[in-house]
Amino acid sequence: MLHTNRLFWGEPVALRRGKMAEKMVTLTFYGGITQVGGNKTLLEDGSTRLFLDFGTPFAEWGKYYEEYMKPRPGAGLLDPLEMGLLPPLRGLYRTDLEDPTGSLWHRFESNPLFRDFRGVKIQGVLLSHAHLDHSGYISFLAQDIPVYSTAMTALIAKAVQDTQGGSDFEREVSYFSPRKLQNEYLRSEGVRVQRPFYFVDVKDLSPQVRRFWDGRFVKPRNKPIEWMEMDSLAEVGFVPERAGNLKFRHWPVDHSVPGACAYAVETSCGWVVYTGDLRLHGKRGEKTEAFIRDTHSLKTCILLCEGTRTGDSAETAEETTEEEVFENCLAAAKKSGGLVIADFAPRNIERLTTFLRIAKDTGRRLVVLAKDAYLLWSLKLLQAETLSLENDAEIYIYKEFKDSLDAWEQHIHQSYEDRLVGHDEIRRRPREYLLCFSFFNMKNMIDVRPQGGTYIYSSSKAYDDEQSADLQRLREWVNHFGMELRGDPDSEKGFHASGHARAPELLDIVKGISPRILIPIHTEKPEYFRENLKGLDIEVLTPKEGERLSF
Ligand SMILES: [Zn+2]
Repeated sequence: MLHTNRLFWGEPVALRRGKMAEKMVTLTFYGGITQVGGNKTLLEDGSTRLFLDFGTPFAEWGKYYEEYMKPRPGAGLLDPLEMGLLPPLRGLYRTDLEDPTGSLWHRFESNPLFRDFRGVKIQGVLLSHAHLDHSGYISFLAQDIPVYSTAMTALIAKAVQDTQGGSDFEREVSYFSPRKLQNEYLRSEGVRVQRPFYFVDVKDLSPQVRRFWDGRFVKPRNKPIEWMEMDSLAEVGFVPERAGNLKFRHWPVDHSVPGACAYAVETSCGWVVYTGDLRLHGKRGEKTEAFIRDTHSLKTCILLCEGTRTGDSAETAEETTEEEVFENCLAAAKKSGGLVIADFAPRNIERLTTFLRIAKDTGRRLVVLAKDAYLLWSLKLLQAETLSLENDAEIYIYKEFKDSLDAWEQHIHQSYEDRLVGHDEIRRRPREYLLCFSFFNMKNMIDVRPQGGTYIYSSSKAYDDEQSADLQRLREWVNHFGMELRGDPDSEKGFHASGHARAPELLDIVKGISPRILIPIHTEKPEYFRENLKGLDIEVLTPKEGERLSF
């Protein structure tokens, strides 16, 4: 008989240890429960311990930090631990980010969330997709904790890290630079260590994918960086069926980044299913439906379901499909008498495909940034038929005005020399181009001098003050160059489709899977599920951040 026995986070560690000796499954929610993003759920069953995602808690991060006020890399784990961005779990993190005297942990031992994992094996992280609010804080994990993900998710993480410029210690997901204490400051040692990734969906990787993954395809420009292999652990390409003593399965699901998947882990109390982020209204909606059917037949015991949009207001609850985005943006591009700029999230390949169709339908060339071309190039290594410069002759690369090129950039410039387009050419023939830019690229407009044209904002609304300020700056840039802004989220709808299922669809997903217990995650309004699933035989649990549930 299944029972729920709540253990609150304030409970003494010894008592928890006592309980752990019994055969029981526990879930501890270290982030991403009552906020959108930062998911870090620890699943424990016997001697197996798995994290379901290990993301950056952007909402929490933004309470203290902004672009020019960040956690200090030289202080290692201290800053994210002190500000509550990382749970105080000793033994879980990279030791090179600890103060070698060990004094760091004295500060956190009395924290109610503190646990000592030294000498305790963590079998891995089941990573749902490559968005940083799910993957970012893998950066801090000890190098022997493997990450399980689809090959696509791993390659996106790698490509994004290669192109992000500089070494941001909060974004070292696929590889990291170990640091060493020098004059009381943790400094990078100039080597890179790859994390062990196990790909859940691809067994035999091509030599090109391996070369890309190993970082040997693109050599750094000035300072040669030595790669440190983790011999036995760097088993890329192995398709697992189990992690520790637990069997698990994965399903591809529809989301706004390729490679997204959901997981189910078979525990001693039944199947625990984790949705990651998902939706039904994108081009891969049928994948999400197949996931629902399969997990229904598993007789799911516990479902961790995302609830990003349960707090939607009546107006934002309306759905725009990708096809409607296409129609609306196409109409705007057709009406435009000059250059068209499309602004959307860079890893949203589905949206990129939408704008490629629009470019073709309006007789324009689609121009992407070099880093987007690099991402497409890397994904093509995995899937030959994917959207790419080889497969689509209308895709060009914007040649930015800059002093020098990074290694990956040189590689892209050399590989696609005949596809580079500079500002002169676009200025001469603005009606022949559709430029994929965002606010952060608007300084290039000083060279392009568009004199009219249309800026299509095809991205989400501003979620915080910083994003609101950027959106206002964007309006000023667009206005400065006499362009027309379409899809302004404050005044015009239908130019963006969300990556997440609408609230009523989330209820349908839960009903379809019909678990014994539902735990809403990744949501500011978990009670929505309880209110709307009344009368059904589904127990809804709404734990707090840091709380631990036993089953
Ligand atoms: Zn996501």
